[in-house]
Amino acid sequence: MEQREIIIVGAGPSGATAAIALCQQGHDVLLIDRQQFPRDKPCGDGIPVGVTEILYELGLKEPFDQAGFYPLDKVRLISPAGHIYESKMREGKQGALAHVIPRQQFDALLQEQAVRAGAEFCHARIKEPIIENGQVKGVRAYGSQGLQEIQARLVLAADGATSVVGRALQPERPSDVHRAVALRAYIEELEVLPHQVEFFLHKDILPGYAWIFPMDVHKANIGLGMRLDEFRQQPYTLEQLLEKFLALPFIRERVQGDGRLQDPATWQLTFGSQKQFQRAYDGALLLGDAGWLIDPLTGGGIENGMMSALLAAQVAHRALQQGDCSRQTLQAYDRACQTALWPVLRRSYWVQQWVLRFPYLLDWLIKYAHNHPHAVGALLAKL
Ligand SMILES: Cc1cc2nc3c(=O)[nH]c(=O)nc-3n(C[C@H](O)[C@H](O)[C@H](O)COP(=O)(O)OP(=O)(O)OC[C@H]3O[C@@H](n4cnc5c(N)ncnc54)[C@H](O)[C@@H]3O)c2cc1C
Repeated sequence: MEQREIIIVGAGPSGATAAIALCQQGHDVLLIDRQQFPRDKPCGDGIPVGVTEILYELGLKEPFDQAGFYPLDKVRLISPAGHIYESKMREGKQGALAHVIPRQQFDALLQEQAVRAGAEFCHARIKEPIIENGQVKGVRAYGSQGLQEIQARLVLAADGATSVVGRALQPERPSDVHRAVALRAYIEELEVLPHQVEFFLHKDILPGYAWIFPMDVHKANIGLGMRLDEFRQQPYTLEQLLEKFLALPFIRERVQGDGRLQDPATWQLTFGSQKQFQRAYDGALLLGDAGWLIDPLTGGGIENGMMSALLAAQVAHRALQQGDCSRQTLQAYDRACQTALWPVLRRSYWVQQWVLRFPYLLDWLIKYAHNHPHAVGALLAKL
């Protein structure tokens, strides 16, 4: 039976980031994914400034900048009644910018950098973790040689919203108020606002929203997401809701051709809106979407996933050096997530629950923000 130091399940942004950080510290990493790269992942493709900053800190400024991704400089919020608030996006350390990057390209770049850093990539589907006396000892994987057992001192689960490792360790599912469903598609021949992302707080999908994220002069990622409990209470599919959104006069007039949607794809999201969620186990840590870390207000999860990966890598490095991967030692990861991520997640959850539910309040707030940009800018800078 193969024996490794660290197995990382899932080579998306969370898993690849953890692999890079751990390889840079000299660890042996087996990075397993059920898909070959490049591969698609349903997403708005919005890559926030914080993600670019993390990549720069990991020493990936050159390959990232050289890829020539589409940068963003503004964000625009449209209230239920059509009031508009626009704001400049912040520029991060070392001139880091936000971008819209198809996940096929973004994730492939990260996975390639993980391999360059020294991780061994393995194309295999994980069936389940190997658990002995409550301790995770490795994984059972379907690869080119059929079902295989691979042991490791530590398993990092970064296998996304449908994590098999996460489900084995934490069988209880979150309630619908902590989950969402979202649909993304691509559209060409749309009049886009260059370098500007748009969030439409449309009353039928609150506390979710629809988005248009530009990728080029006439191409955009378009989609919408809804909290699962709200989605179940209305009669439409996500596809029908997106068609209804496209038919709104102020969107319709921006479409030059037939407005055909390309590559529509639906996926699920689990919000990081439960304070006490456990992410550290004997021999294993849950990262990114597998660790329920999506922002409950924006639906963004890439930055939190990569931050959790860096925190997990720090804790894993210390635990492996001490030769102790018990939950007691790995709990430092739970505490680090609480300190670094929970304050923003809690605030986002509060806004999602108490502000986004009320269309009139949103109209008033966005109108106020439009008329008092300096006051709102100062407030946002403090958050
Ligand atoms: C429609 C939609 C729009 C979104 N828009 C944005 C956005 O604009 N910006 C943003 O920041 N976030 C967005 N998100 C959230 C974002 O996509 C996730 O938070 C992000 O992908 C999490 O990264 P991850 O690495 O944790 O998981 P993933 O990206 O899901 O990666 C998990 C990896 O694990 C692999 N895997 C899964 N199961 C197995 C298995 N059994 N064996 C082996 N490998 C396995 C998968 O193939 C995959 O490569 C959106 C989500 C949705 C659904």
